[in-house]
Amino acid sequence: MRSTRDGMSQKKVCIIGSGFSSLSASCYLAKAGYEVTVIEKNSALGGRARQFKRDGFVYDMGPSFYWMPDVFEKFFNDFDTTTEDFYSLSKLNPAYQVYFGKEDSLRIGGSYEEIRETFEEVDPGSGKGLDRFMDNASDNYALAIEKLVYQPGQSVFEIISWKTIKNSFQFVQTIKQLVTKHVKHPKLRQILEFPVLFLGAKPETTPSFYNFMNHADLKLGTWYPQGGMVKVVEAMVDLAKLLGVTFITDTAIEEIVTLKDTVIGVKMKDRFLPADYVLSGADYHHTEQLLPTTLRQYSSSYWEKKTFAPSALLFFIGFDKKIKNIAHHTLFFDTDFNAHAAEIYDAKQWPKNPLFYASFPSVTDMYAAPIGKESAVLLIPLAVGLSDSKATRAHYFDQLIDRMEILTNQSLREDVLFYESYAIDDFKSDYNAYKGNAYGLANTLRQTHFLRPNIKSKKVNNLFFCGQLTVPGPGVPPAIISGKIASDLLIKYDTI
Ligand SMILES: Cc1cc2nc3c(=O)[nH]c(=O)nc-3n(C[C@H](O)[C@H](O)[C@H](O)COP(=O)(O)OP(=O)(O)OC[C@H]3O[C@@H](n4cnc5c(N)ncnc54)[C@H](O)[C@@H]3O)c2cc1C
Repeated sequence: MRSTRDGMSQKKVCIIGSGFSSLSASCYLAKAGYEVTVIEKNSALGGRARQFKRDGFVYDMGPSFYWMPDVFEKFFNDFDTTTEDFYSLSKLNPAYQVYFGKEDSLRIGGSYEEIRETFEEVDPGSGKGLDRFMDNASDNYALAIEKLVYQPGQSVFEIISWKTIKNSFQFVQTIKQLVTKHVKHPKLRQILEFPVLFLGAKPETTPSFYNFMNHADLKLGTWYPQGGMVKVVEAMVDLAKLLGVTFITDTAIEEIVTLKDTVIGVKMKDRFLPADYVLSGADYHHTEQLLPTTLRQYSSSYWEKKTFAPSALLFFIGFDKKIKNIAHHTLFFDTDFNAHAAEIYDAKQWPKNPLFYASFPSVTDMYAAPIGKESAVLLIPLAVGLSDSKATRAHYFDQLIDRMEILTNQSLREDVLFYESYAIDDFKSDYNAYKGNAYGLANTLRQTHFLRPNIKSKKVNNLFFCGQLTVPGPGVPPAIISGKIASDLLIKYDTI
């Protein structure tokens, strides 16, 4: 056992997985004086934010939208550093482009003024409704950061204050209702409903309070860390190492070893690591499978009833030319979003005409593709738990290329140098993701704050959870916050 400077022996914390939530927690716990070991089953650190490289093309396999830069900044500031010490950020302009039909698209600018002008061009007079909607979104953002997202979700009382009571109707009203009230034009409505996709639910089931994501989108903007999201992972790993965290890769935890209702360590294939605390950033459902049945808090029917954020079908493509009429982030909303959402959440079937998202990192980043070529990631949100096959994936690849050719008005198929796909079965095998979810548990009304799976086990004394299935929810900024909440709670319990 290592010792602290004052001669006390350090308590050992074992962290399962190395996603953003685990990396964040590892830094806070190491700073607080714990001996921290992060154990990751894959060879690369970063969880779903790994990188894929082929023939000079480079891709982020997971997150690509860098939103809420204040959350990243706060994280690094907590360790007397800044994001600038580790990576270089640029604000994207346009933030993204949205296609509604053939050569029919809108570019969402890099500042609110530009975005407001776009709204006015599409629907004269709509700027006022947008302003009112955004004033509310900005107030909610401030309230969320101050009163909600950094709370551990242990009880409803954490979030009760005169401000939250005054705003409680916003948990009954949905985003769809609020958007409909403020903006008339269908294209503009779609733009305001788009950030809900990050929460993993439908606009008609997401509380309107979550329009704070519109503040993140249209006021704070979309950023890009040069080199891709993997640079943020590298930064957090570097910081963690400086703070004394040990990393073990290519090693899965096979069992959380307990004595009565207390964890005594974790078992890997060929060794046992003793621990005073275990904190898991791996998918919550999977983590509980590592415990004896009697120590699991949630039954299989509990998980079965939960609304999971979507899974995804991804294609990583190398194009032999630069592509026209696209932006770094391009959304293809040329099909019926409601029909696609119903296929994800209600029918739970492969979609007929899905909307999809495309990222072309080489538009901004010269190192993302060889000169004169373009790297592209296409993503279709899918229901979790679908049966996945090569033939199905190939069918969607063809459909997406056909649609992109028509919508962006250029030939593309003959310029595909290669493509790789990634979907439900890969999420299951690579990340132990429940039903192959990509983004964790959705933020619906019944799955918000204290109604989400517990950040501290109610059955095992010294077992904690972080990540996108617990509080505050899916996405990179929430994962970073989750690591802070879980480590603060662990420290609190340890010092009682
Ligand atoms: C395709 C895709 C696109 C996305 N786009 C965005 C975006 O643009 N912006 C955004 O903010 N968010 C986005 N997200 C969501 C965001 O990436 C996640 O919410 C976040 O990265 C989750 O972090 P986490 O710490 O919860 O867990 P994860 O990243 O899932 O990390 C969990 C880790 O635990 C490991 N593990 C599992 N079981 C074990 C075991 N038994 N032993 C050891 N290790 C284990 C896994 O291998 C994994 O590395 C996207 C996600 C995906 C998949």
